[in-house]
Amino acid sequence: MSARSRFTVGWLYPDLMNIYGDRGNILTLLKRAEWHGLEPRLTQIERGPTTDLDGVDLFFFGGGQDREQSLIYDDLKEHKQHALENASQTGAQILAVCGGYQLLGHYYVTADGEKLNGIGLLDVTTQAGKRRAIGDVVVESNADLKLTPRTLVGFENHSGRTFLGAKAKPLGKVLTGSGNNGDDRTEGVVQENIIGTYLHGSLLPKNPHLADYLIRKALIRRGVDAGDLRPLDDEAELAAHAQILRRAQRR
Ligand code: GLN
Repeated sequence: MSARSRFTVGWLYPDLMNIYGDRGNILTLLKRAEWHGLEPRLTQIERGPTTDLDGVDLFFFGGGQDREQSLIYDDLKEHKQHALENASQTGAQILAVCGGYQLLGHYYVTADGEKLNGIGLLDVTTQAGKRRAIGDVVVESNADLKLTPRTLVGFENHSGRTFLGAKAKPLGKVLTGSGNNGDDRTEGVVQENIIGTYLHGSLLPKNPHLADYLIRKALIRRGVDAGDLRPLDDEAELAAHAQILRRAQRR
């Protein structure tokens, strides 16, 4: 298989930032890439100096509790910031969930008042709130993503309340749940080649259309276009998606 059809997922801090089934996103990306006829690879990116991340097509940065976030945020600034900036500027994609999403923003102030400076790749800020947002979330995705179905489903569990700056567009509008902050009905963010979201669940197994959006976008820089990917039968995945929609409507 040619280098052109390789698809490399870079998993940031798999030991610390991996909560509420976030690993399911990695499994989904690798499996779908294989089914699409690509050659998937996984690079686990731990704490410490990082050598070559140029080959990574899609970075995944999962969630963690405040303790885990405080253990990695120095490392993120020192050893990963430059590589992530570079990668996203050259067309690699980043998907960040919850704690990872918060640390890609300007800062996160924990419930204890500790300010964890993020790396500012996303124009968002987060402050811990008094109430934890826990439960199913249904989102009407941003029309710019052209997703079919239009909805995204997931499960949130966070106290952080995130507010978007001018450069950050919402990933979608909350139909059920709290989303970014429980007030403005926005959920997540899309900013250039980065998606941030509060949706665990895991997110991608129940949202195969979002997984493929990320895979396709990541492969543009390799000269692979959507037509080169083998079409997949998503009946089982979309049935799981529909089940969450029904459960949310009953609430
Ligand atoms: N510690 C963060 C919060 O509670 C993130 C939690 C998470 O990643 N689930 O807001």
